[in-house]
Amino acid sequence: MKPWLATGILLLSAGFAHAEEAHTTHWTYDGAEGPEYWGELADTYKTCSTGKNQSPINLDSKVEIEAELSPLTLAYQAGGNEVLNNGHTIQVKYEPGSTLTLDGQAFELKQFHFHAPSENQIDGKSYPMEAHLVHADKDGNLAVVALMFAEGTEDNAGLEQFWPQMPAKAEETTALTAKTDVSKLLPADHDYYRFNGSLTTPPCTEGVVWLVMKQPVIASKAQIEKFTQIMGHPNNRPVQAVNARPVLK
Ligand SMILES: [Zn+2]
Repeated sequence: MKPWLATGILLLSAGFAHAEEAHTTHWTYDGAEGPEYWGELADTYKTCSTGKNQSPINLDSKVEIEAELSPLTLAYQAGGNEVLNNGHTIQVKYEPGSTLTLDGQAFELKQFHFHAPSENQIDGKSYPMEAHLVHADKDGNLAVVALMFAEGTEDNAGLEQFWPQMPAKAEETTALTAKTDVSKLLPADHDYYRFNGSLTTPPCTEGVVWLVMKQPVIASKAQIEKFTQIMGHPNNRPVQAVNARPVLK
């Protein structure tokens, strides 16, 4: 067992997105173990097909509700210390000490990872890549800050902190030579959409607060292609029904 697993099997199985998969049923992004079948692959994955508050979604401006959302309270410091290729995504593990405060509750940043193309959509628009910053409070409740990446001509300096050390093979982990600061990835404008959703990977656990930044950030074509080539396949779950959920903006 890897040392970092020892503290957290229960928490991990309760749903840290893209955590170590060794104890879980295999799944993929296409074919017979793809997203439309996730709910049938294991009893613990049933929510993937029966859930009514699933992620990702299309953020549709026609049905969003104008709300006085309080500014995001982010207190991030450099703390990304490992980059992992788990076969489903590239993930940067974050050491304790960086928090999001939401409704008076502190959520600690645990890890962030990437999807290409984007999972959430904004008015039906898909972006070439999306990052998920996964936070947990002391009770294990999850809050995810999502960032969209549009393609531009410049390299994204925030990505460049760790992009060159991205492991090319699944199940490889690389210790980062310098601690990554996730705040360097954020857009200038922190306006966001808020809705309740789920993990976008099995077991698709619900009760996750989603905060999607409205302003995309830029990554170069070469940066996006490096990720898609190492993944070797798209790693986005299709958008799910919104059902009765309010989406706040
Ligand atoms: Zn994700």
